Amino acid sequence: MKEVTSGDVLSLCKRRGYIYPAYEIYGGIAGLYDYGPLGTVLKENIVALWRRIYALQEGFVEIDGDNIGPEAVFKASGHVDSFADLSVTCKACGESYRADHLVQGLHPNPDSLSAAELQRLLRENDVRCPCNGELADVEEFNLMFKTRIGPGGGRIGYLRPETAQSIFVNYPNLYRYCREKLPFGCIQVGRGFRNEISPRQGVIRLREFNMMEAELFVDPEDKTWPRYEGIKGKQVRLVPNVTGEEVETTYGEAVEKGTIGNQTLAYFMWVTFDFLTSVGIDPVRLRFRQHLSTEMAHYAADCWDAEVLLSLGWTEVVGIADRGCWDLSRHMEHSKADLTAFKRYDEPQDVVRDAIRPKFGALGPRFKGAAGDIKKQLEGMDASAVHDGKVTVKVDGQDLELDGEYFEVVQVQEKETGVRVVPHVIEPSHGLDRILYACLEHAYGEKEDGYLTLGLKPLVAPIKVGVFPLMAKDGMEVVAQALDLALREEGIATYYDDSGSIGRRYARMDEAGTPWCVTVDYDTLEQGDVTIRDRDTAEQVRVSADDVVAFVKERLKRKLSP
Ligand code: AMP
Repeated sequence: MKEVTSGDVLSLCKRRGYIYPAYEIYGGIAGLYDYGPLGTVLKENIVALWRRIYALQEGFVEIDGDNIGPEAVFKASGHVDSFADLSVTCKACGESYRADHLVQGLHPNPDSLSAAELQRLLRENDVRCPCNGELADVEEFNLMFKTRIGPGGGRIGYLRPETAQSIFVNYPNLYRYCREKLPFGCIQVGRGFRNEISPRQGVIRLREFNMMEAELFVDPEDKTWPRYEGIKGKQVRLVPNVTGEEVETTYGEAVEKGTIGNQTLAYFMWVTFDFLTSVGIDPVRLRFRQHLSTEMAHYAADCWDAEVLLSLGWTEVVGIADRGCWDLSRHMEHSKADLTAFKRYDEPQDVVRDAIRPKFGALGPRFKGAAGDIKKQLEGMDASAVHDGKVTVKVDGQDLELDGEYFEVVQVQEKETGVRVVPHVIEPSHGLDRILYACLEHAYGEKEDGYLTLGLKPLVAPIKVGVFPLMAKDGMEVVAQALDLALREEGIATYYDDSGSIGRRYARMDEAGTPWCVTVDYDTLEQGDVTIRDRDTAEQVRVSADDVVAFVKERLKRKLSP
């Protein structure tokens, strides 16, 4: 087999209708690509398998949020202030670069460096623009696309840089929908927009890309996960941040040693592994790398990237982050909405707490008709509302400070049935375009003679069956067309082809990634059986034409696991 390059894959993609550079007739634009007829179906098939795992197997609910959002949301999420890459521009030609990309090879992990560190590294090594021009200072560049919502200036808005925020801002609705119990999970498939500084790696770095994100809301104190037992013995390849060295271990051992922070994170790393290998990523070229603390996104407490070995090197395709309570706490602070969960105790607990008791004898004569309302306000307050011996109440819409003459702080004994907590979030965030590209690159097989087979997994292959009459005559075409219809009626995508030699038709289907080809020949007319040829083994079996649908369906089955 020949060694594959990303150029080979992209050229196949264009030829076979998987991926096209966007706006090509106008010269194209970096970081924007379109999916062609086969690419669109491949993408949908990958999403379908992902939904199957998250919705049907793991029980997550799904929403479909807006692509555009008001500034307040992204202020709260931290993206307005912190979602930036470090850029450097050539003083001569004006071209901009991601500063960390210019120091690859000069540092083991340039992504983790600060602006000052990058600046120093560029200067010390006299790094210049490829045009030999001098580089200006490193500066921050916010990756969000800013816009205006509404006419006449409108409100500032942003295209979402990740789908996650629509899930967080819908937390109260989702919590209610999920019967007010933790844990619960929500998924979303949609577009993310990032104004990448200099996207130059095909579909790996896009300015508009497809994401599949899952947000799991968990009890912050519960580090266990019910289905962890089933996966803890399974093997995993990790690159922990303390050593930076690749190790083969088990999920169980990694959790016990504290390498992976908790069972939930470990379980969803396994789910990620299972998903990625099911869509066709080679398990031998797949590992999980832990972020350095300096590399972590502003919201993450811990983060593991699922990395796939591509011709471009190890590439992140999924980020599995422990976002802690960052998002919900921030949205709670900024929106004032209640984004907590009620954690019921097994048994009600006796608690002693400080409470504010109004002195009605003093409030009545002083505030007359308003005294009843002030009393109610004071009774509803927690003792933490007392500052320097005073509390603030509202009278006729105005703030009014009351001192100890009007209330006292007393200890009360109460039965508490539970406590309100801000859930923690575990987030597996999938870059769909990267996963799709990795599937294509790992499936790409070109022999020395140039014969090309795209070994896509049957479950995701856009065309499942090529249907051919040996020749379009003597009734063979009628049987083949009937078989083609029977398959399509069962939801199985086919490609009917009656032109050229059978060898040429096989070759077309091999290049398009079609796992099976069915040929109707003269024997079919007499005996009712057809030839099914397997793309990967080139083996041919004779099967009754009536059994073809069942043959294919059997091979497309997938059990829910573990
Ligand atoms: P992040 O929120 O940065 O962890 O991104 C989640 C996933 O989206 C990553 O693991 C990537 O697979 C993918 N991704 C991030 N940025 C891009 C981009 N510019 N183009 C394509 N995919 C991306």
